[in-house]
Amino acid sequence: MTSNTPVSDQLFDRAQSLMPGGVNSPVRAFGSVGGTPKFMVSAKGAYLTDADGRDYVDLVCSWGPALLGHAHPAVLEAVHAAVDRGLSFGASTPDEANLAALVKERVSAVERIRMVSTGTEATMTAVRLARGFTGRNLIIKFAGCYHGHLDGLLASAGSGVATLALPGSAGVTAAAAAETMVLPYNDLAAVEEAFAAHGKDIAAVITEAAPANMGVVTPGEGFNAGLSRITKEHGALLILDEVLTGFRTGYAGYWGLTGQQEGWAPDLLTFGKVIGGGMPTAALGGRADVMDYLAPVGPVYQAGTLSGNPVAMAAGVATLTHATQEVYAHVDARSLELSAALSSALDAEGVDHSIQRAGNLFSVAFGTSANGVHNYQDAQAQEAFRYAPFFHSMLDSGVYLPPSVYEAWFLSAAHDDAALNRIYDALPAAAKAAAGA
Ligand code: PMP
Repeated sequence: MTSNTPVSDQLFDRAQSLMPGGVNSPVRAFGSVGGTPKFMVSAKGAYLTDADGRDYVDLVCSWGPALLGHAHPAVLEAVHAAVDRGLSFGASTPDEANLAALVKERVSAVERIRMVSTGTEATMTAVRLARGFTGRNLIIKFAGCYHGHLDGLLASAGSGVATLALPGSAGVTAAAAAETMVLPYNDLAAVEEAFAAHGKDIAAVITEAAPANMGVVTPGEGFNAGLSRITKEHGALLILDEVLTGFRTGYAGYWGLTGQQEGWAPDLLTFGKVIGGGMPTAALGGRADVMDYLAPVGPVYQAGTLSGNPVAMAAGVATLTHATQEVYAHVDARSLELSAALSSALDAEGVDHSIQRAGNLFSVAFGTSANGVHNYQDAQAQEAFRYAPFFHSMLDSGVYLPPSVYEAWFLSAAHDDAALNRIYDALPAAAKAAAGA
C-alpha cells in the first residue's frame, strides 16, 4: 500500500537514525497502533497540519495543554510580547507571582506554589517534600496511575508504560522501587491495610485526581475523600496529581469539581499541561506549612535554571485568564456529545465497549461493557487490539486520536460544529474497522 504521507515517512526514517525510536517521548512513535507517526508542522484552533499538508481534527491537544485551542490569539500575543522582552533572566519576574495568584484564586487548597518545568519535576519535588516534611520514606501509588518518569513511581505506571507493556523500567534500582508500595486503584480497604501495617513509615499517598493514563477511570464515590481521611489519621500527606486534570476538568481542576464541595483538601497538588498553555511549565502547591519546607525557607532542596521562565509564565497567565467558566461549559458539552456519538457508532457495529469518564475527560475501552473499568487490571483485560484499526481509520479520515487506547481524548474551546462533524462522519467506518479486528 502506498503511503498517503510520504514526507512524514521520510522524516521518520531520518529521525530514527538520530533519536531512539525516532522520538523524544515514547507514545509518539505509534508503537501500539503501528504505522508511521505523522510529523506535525503547525496547529491552529482544533486542527493540526502535518508535513504532507494534511490536516486533522486534533483530539490530543498536546496531551492536554491546548484547552483554548491551538495558537489562541491572546496566548500568542502574550508570548510574542514576552519574547520581545528577552527569553530568560535567571532572576525573579513579575509574571511568576501573577500566575501563582491566578492558581491560588482558583484552587483554594493552594496556599503557596512553586513553578517547575515539567509534570515529572512537580511530582518528584512533591514526593521529596513529603518525605522531608514527615521524616518518613514510603510512598503509596496506585497501579495504572502515571506521575511522570521519576524512578520511584514508574512501577505499574500507566501511559506509555502501559502501552509498551513494560513492568516498570530498567535502570530503576531495587532500593528506589522498594520505597514505593503499589496498590490497586479504587480499593480503600487495601489502603487501610497498608497503613495498618506500615503507617508510621508512610510519607504520602500520591494519586491522579482522576486517573487518565490507564484510559480514564472514575474515582469511586468517596475514594479521594477516603485517601484524605486515612492519610490525616496517620500523619501522612495526600498528594493529588492534577498535572492532567488541573484547569482542564474545570475551573479549579478535578478537586474543584469534587473535594472542594465535599469539604476535604489534599496537602499538596501538582499541576502541568494547561497551566503553561503549551509552554514547559508545571507547578506544585498546597499547604503553606508544607510548602515552606522547600529551600530557601526550609531544608528540602529544589531548583531550576528555567523555572518560572518569563515566556512560559506569560503563556500560563494568558491561558488561565481566558480559561473561563464558558470554556469549561463548552468543553463539557462537547465531551458529552462526542462520547455519545462514539458510543452509538460502536453500538451500531456491535462493538462491546464502555465509555470511561471523569468530568469532561473520557476514553473508550473495548469488551468492558459488563463491568466497566475501575482499576488497572480491568484496563489491561480489555480488547485493546480493537483500537489500532479504529485509530487508523480515524486518522485516514482526518481525525488525530491519541495513539494508544490507554490515553484520554482531549477537546478544546476551539472544537466547533465543523470539527465535531468531521469526527462524526469518520466514526462509522472506524467502528466497522474495530468490529472486524
Ligand atoms: N502526572 C500526570 C497525571 C500526567 O498525566 C503526566 C504526563 N502525562 C505527568 C504527571 C508528567 O508530566 P510531564 O510529562 O510534563 O513530565
